[in-house]
Amino acid sequence: MSSTHSASTWEQLRTTALACTKCPLAEGRTQVVFGVGDPHAALLFVGEAPGHQEDLAGEPFVGRSGKLLDRVMVEEIGITRAHCYIANVVKCRPPQNRNPAPAEIEACRPYLEEQISHLNPSVVITLGNFATRLLLESTEGIRQLRGSVYPYRSGHLVPTYHPAYVLRAGGEAMAEMRADFVRAKRLMARA
Ligand code: URA
Ligand code: SF4
Repeated sequence: MSSTHSASTWEQLRTTALACTKCPLAEGRTQVVFGVGDPHAALLFVGEAPGHQEDLAGEPFVGRSGKLLDRVMVEEIGITRAHCYIANVVKCRPPQNRNPAPAEIEACRPYLEEQISHLNPSVVITLGNFATRLLLESTEGIRQLRGSVYPYRSGHLVPTYHPAYVLRAGGEAMAEMRADFVRAKRLMARA
């Protein structure tokens, strides 16, 4: 049965990722943060990397950024994290929360690519520069890239700010993130 097959593929991918030592981030992590949510969801969020709280919990976006993500998700899209999927560009916490290095992003990329292939989401919301640049294969910044909708695989990609940036910047950045989430909701209603 294809559904059984696909469930086992997802579990295999998860099991492989949880034991991964393909890049130096393996050394400093408590655990691999694979992702959270519904592996059949139509909406995927892609963040950057686990932080301290995520490294301890084994779940993406459980700290302050995550609280903001959860709030804007429910207020603008009307769903909780159980109804979408949330993953990061790299699955292990970079030491002192430094940016992930290009070689680390490349090493980890196949996990995200396989997650996306399996989910086949109608909408991907990328949170911040790292996820947006990786999936759009762009070198432009999030300020340039957000505000538009991009074709992505068989669906669409909506770039927005990273919630950690919105927490710092407030006001206008928050309004722009909300508008981006509304864009995503409209696309999902069409799909
Ligand atoms: N920031 C991210 O990009 N991802 C997380 O999981 C937490 C904070
Ligand atoms: Fe493996 Fe990705 Fe963790 Fe590096 S960051 S060890 S590639 S799971």
